[in-house]
Amino acid sequence: MVTTIIGFPRLGEFRELKFTTEKYFRGEIGEAELLESAKTLRRKHWNLVKEAGITEIPSNDFSHYDAVLDTAFLLNVVPQAVQSLDLTDLERYFALARGYQGEKGDVRALPMKKWFNTNYHYIVPKFEKDTQVKLASNKIFDEFVEARERGLLTRPVLIGPFTFLQLADYEVGTAPTDFVESIVATYQAVFETLANLGAKTIQLDEPSLVKDLTAKEKALFLDIYEKLLADKKGLSVLVQTYFGDVRDIYADLLTLPIDGLGLDFVEGKKTLELVSTGFPEDKVLYAGIVNGKNIWRNDYEKSLALLKKIPTTNIVLNTSCSLLHVPFTTVNEEFEASILQHFSFAVEKLAELRDLDTILTEGGADLLARNKDLFRTERVGTNQDLAARIAGLTEADYTRLPDFAEREIIQAERLKLPELPTTTIGSFPQTEEVRATRLAFRKGEVSAQAYDTFLAKQIDDWIEWQEEVGFDVLVHGEFERNDMVEYFGQNLSGYLFSKNGWVQSYGMRGVKPPIIWSDVTRLQPITVKWSSYAQSKTDKPVKGMLTGPVTILNWSFPREDISIKESTLQIALAIKEEVLDLETAGIKIIQIDEAALREKLPLRRSDWYEDYLDWAIPAFRLVHSTVAPDTQIHTHMCYSEFTDIIPAIDNMDADVISFEASRSNLVILDELKAQNFQTQVGPGVYDIHSPRVPADGEIDHTIEAILAKVPRQKVWINPDCGLKTRGIKETRESLIRLVEVAKLARQAITK
Ligand code: GLN
Ligand code: ZN
Repeated sequence: MVTTIIGFPRLGEFRELKFTTEKYFRGEIGEAELLESAKTLRRKHWNLVKEAGITEIPSNDFSHYDAVLDTAFLLNVVPQAVQSLDLTDLERYFALARGYQGEKGDVRALPMKKWFNTNYHYIVPKFEKDTQVKLASNKIFDEFVEARERGLLTRPVLIGPFTFLQLADYEVGTAPTDFVESIVATYQAVFETLANLGAKTIQLDEPSLVKDLTAKEKALFLDIYEKLLADKKGLSVLVQTYFGDVRDIYADLLTLPIDGLGLDFVEGKKTLELVSTGFPEDKVLYAGIVNGKNIWRNDYEKSLALLKKIPTTNIVLNTSCSLLHVPFTTVNEEFEASILQHFSFAVEKLAELRDLDTILTEGGADLLARNKDLFRTERVGTNQDLAARIAGLTEADYTRLPDFAEREIIQAERLKLPELPTTTIGSFPQTEEVRATRLAFRKGEVSAQAYDTFLAKQIDDWIEWQEEVGFDVLVHGEFERNDMVEYFGQNLSGYLFSKNGWVQSYGMRGVKPPIIWSDVTRLQPITVKWSSYAQSKTDKPVKGMLTGPVTILNWSFPREDISIKESTLQIALAIKEEVLDLETAGIKIIQIDEAALREKLPLRRSDWYEDYLDWAIPAFRLVHSTVAPDTQIHTHMCYSEFTDIIPAIDNMDADVISFEASRSNLVILDELKAQNFQTQVGPGVYDIHSPRVPADGEIDHTIEAILAKVPRQKVWINPDCGLKTRGIKETRESLIRLVEVAKLARQAITK
């Protein structure tokens, strides 16, 4: 049987690409050296895939930054401002990814967005009126030839034209349909060159097909593909989808002259049902059965049973999505063998595809037997008390009393805050000194006592500073945390941490999601010590600062033996204990961050509630339902892209929510008003993703815009998000301005 993958991780086993690229950014090495080391990496990865026995190997799945950006360069969808810069191709490429400020000009980076329901970010291309779509990059050809010279006939991979058009931004006065002809011609030019170079098949990734498609979108897709496939230049065309099923367009796909169709049997709830209605004999089904998103071993018995149900023999065994979303290999991990045997990172998933093929074609009884053992023996026990607690939860446990309107009065009475209260989102700059001291403490070079003294000093300084500047609600600064999920995970039972399990998040950056191994309970109080310490230093309220259960879950690798709902409720109960301890310790305001709540909203609207919001929102309420009416609960979300789910956000029943808003033109405010949003709001008044200090008048203008749309009794003044990645100087200047402007706005109101 044929085996393949959709794509392989790019950063390298030890994040070599990241480190080399950063050297290049710092000017320590030149372009030639960067390109050479990328080549070495590609060779290593191709060899690994080949040696694992994978028979169809992709190329052009490598990227120096992001595949959507690569495609934009291929198609010449590069804004005029960057085209005209006198830079090399690679410099221009990085200019679009990260912005360029230097002697040759000044351009801003293109925006980034989350790639479907993952924590990977792509660069959003921009079509302008004078965009001339044409073949403008040789990357896909060069990498094909590079592999061919090593004796490998690869299958080049490209983001498909439909998904590319769907993900792009458009200058006013332009629309996707304006570019169909030139896009089709350019893809055909790619086909032709690849065919001339000896390629047989091209893979076009079309994940946008797993979303709800309007009639117009469907028509656009069909229009593009009918034109494109009218002349394939002798290539076979594989349309590859992932992250869901293609229910809206499956029947149409089968009528197109494509040669292969890649479907996701892991996340695609209806994929099996769809293929059961029939799959034509003249096409190859690329069946995504090995999970490309999670780190658990594949259950061979289940996969084989699934394969049996697929009514075609023309099957290629595949992963469900690119292996970009899992770490490189388990080989460098230090878990005990009994634990490690349950994990499968990218390299191990290659072997799983191979195993499945062996079992299907040659018997492989021993492989199957060993895998069965892994799943038949109980991996972890069940915490019966916890299970009973969760089973016994009733509506009352998810309900905070009295209702918000009454609490609002009680809290105003207790907190006595002025109108337009000022606060920050939690973290202050994590300077080199903070990070170095934490590392030294972890390595045992700094004693626990010395580390505590150090943290206390940071808190002292920042509490004093916030009082001086005149903030109304203070924070301790989160200096003890290196990450808002890992810090909590380390204090919860059931969590494991890999040494080297990096997954690309954006650009060359990786994150190392912790693994939920077993039932989760709180081991000890987590934040009480530093929150109460900070509170003891001031008469102003200091916010307790927690990460919420949905975010902790979403930024971890979840279990597959119990539902993510069950895991989330376990985490919610653990965080609830923390909330109650903070309250007992005298903390009057507690913020429970749900930065990643929006991220895992299902791609299809019809799944939003049943598959997600119906348990995620109650899980949040469970965390705070039993606090006293006069304890004020805040939450924070990083996206204001929740226009569609405003009632659900109100249903979290927090007292105050802060969110990133200043970058999105405050459109959300109209919707909040239209939908009669009750929760008090702190729309961010300045962007913290850039070192820029807001100019004179900027924050004033934003506050004015907010007050024009939100009743002033409901408004808080705060930045977009935490400040941990910022420098001290710009942070202080920006925050001083924020407080000054808020005070002026307050005076203006009372007049
Ligand atoms: N409290 C966190 C911080 O300020 C929130 C971070 C986030 O929203 N990503 O760092
Ligand atoms: Zn945030």
